[in-house]
Amino acid sequence: MSKTKAYAAQTAATPLEEWSLERRAPKPHDVQIEILYCGVCHSDLHTARNEWGNTIFPVVPGHEIVGRVTAVGDHVSKFKVGQLAGIGCLVDSCRECDNCKEGLEQYCSNGMVGTYNGQEKDGSGITYGGYSKQIVAHEDFVLHITDKQPLEGIAPLLCAGITTYSPLKHWKVGKGDKVGVLGLGGLGHMGVKLAASMGAEVTMLSHSPSKEADAKKLGAHKFVLTSDKGQTKPVKGYFDFILNTVSADHDYNFYLRMLSTNGVMVCVGAPPTPAKIPAFNLIGGRKSIAGSNIGGLPETQEMLDYCAEHNIVSDVEVIKMSEINEAYERMLKGDVKYRFVIDMSTL
Ligand code: NAP
Ligand code: ZN
Ligand code: ZN
Repeated sequence: MSKTKAYAAQTAATPLEEWSLERRAPKPHDVQIEILYCGVCHSDLHTARNEWGNTIFPVVPGHEIVGRVTAVGDHVSKFKVGQLAGIGCLVDSCRECDNCKEGLEQYCSNGMVGTYNGQEKDGSGITYGGYSKQIVAHEDFVLHITDKQPLEGIAPLLCAGITTYSPLKHWKVGKGDKVGVLGLGGLGHMGVKLAASMGAEVTMLSHSPSKEADAKKLGAHKFVLTSDKGQTKPVKGYFDFILNTVSADHDYNFYLRMLSTNGVMVCVGAPPTPAKIPAFNLIGGRKSIAGSNIGGLPETQEMLDYCAEHNIVSDVEVIKMSEINEAYERMLKGDVKYRFVIDMSTL
């Protein structure tokens, strides 16, 4: 066991503060990583404030982790001390169910183990995430990271990147497809970059007028301000695919109207309140509404390699660990371009 500095929320109503936790000594297949950067996902905020009602306190958020390997177990074959490594949203799964065997560990029938707020399969306790100096995980859940791109820009790929890449691939988005990305935050800005890189015609659907120029710089071909009727009317029945990344309660029906016949809206954003969708809004136009959860380990590595090949990283604002509570407030106001990443040397 080793004592590790961390930042934790002790209750849903209190700010995150310094805390310390015990990490296990590496088991034969474990990799120990000194965390260099950790991205700040809106899921961290939802969890720290118990907005989904499932938080076990104290909670140490953070699942966009990059760092350097400091120790490996005797049977580790994939990593060596000194190499760069990454950990995303999950650190374990049963590895026996059909989903796990297919590399869809995020849909493990026996429950995947989240990087934080998860229950270890061996009953040893709760998992604690990347707002900490060090982490230990089984090598099968650790990813290879290139040294050719800035590490702070790679960190958000571990959640925001894979969460947007996976549905774009699953629904075979490509050349000629009209894609709307709803919400320009951490996920949304990766959705724009990735969909554009796959050859789609990308429209940013945003409720923030100030984000138009940035959306275009990120690769969006068009920008629609969703509060402006003059701009939303022309995209009625327009999109083949909408990637919905909105974190707050909103009217899904408004965006379903923007789908073409057979169009699909994939929800990756997870607002706390359930959506109300009349069947008629799907029946007319044979539309679908779907969901997608992060990505499995093979696809996450594929995405990292794809981003390295296409020179894609996240646009980040690096913050100190002590600035995390302010960063949460700014994230709620949409005041982040477009992902906060914590420099873990500041903890
Ligand atoms: P974020 O950076 O805060 O971005 C969310 C964006 O949603 C905002 O930038 C804003 O974009 C839009 N938005 C916010 N409030 C809105 C409102 N009231 N009406 C309309 N649009 C609004 O958050 P994120 O880290 O990208 O995460 C987004 C959501 O995805 C969160 O709920 C998170 O928990 C979830 N998530 C899911 C998965 C998964 O596997 N499915 C993985 C990671 C995260 P505009 O200003 O452009 O409108
Ligand atoms: Zn996340
Ligand atoms: Zn499984």
